[in-house]
Amino acid sequence: MSATMSTTATGSTIETTSVSMSIDERCTACGLCVVTCPDAALVPAPGRPAFLASRCSDCLACIEVCPRDAITMGVGA
Ligand code: SF4
Ligand code: SF4
Repeated sequence: MSATMSTTATGSTIETTSVSMSIDERCTACGLCVVTCPDAALVPAPGRPAFLASRCSDCLACIEVCPRDAITMGVGA
């Protein structure tokens, strides 16, 4: 597990900027995760949705909604 730590003029913040997600072969491209994601971090793509880590708020709603348990998420590569 890794996190990125940055120091600013106003203090220290710890940001988790390395959220990773994998969508495995169980995905049927049903699109439920795409419409459920509150941050538009999952977008339609050929085959399986594409994940945009910079938008993800790590809410885990996509994992909850996926009927195929195809989504695995972690912090770090
Ligand atoms: S964890 Fe939440 S914000 Fe991130 S991709 Fe899934 S539904 Fe979207
Ligand atoms: S909800 Fe699951 S099966 Fe449906 S598109 Fe997303 S990852 Fe694939």
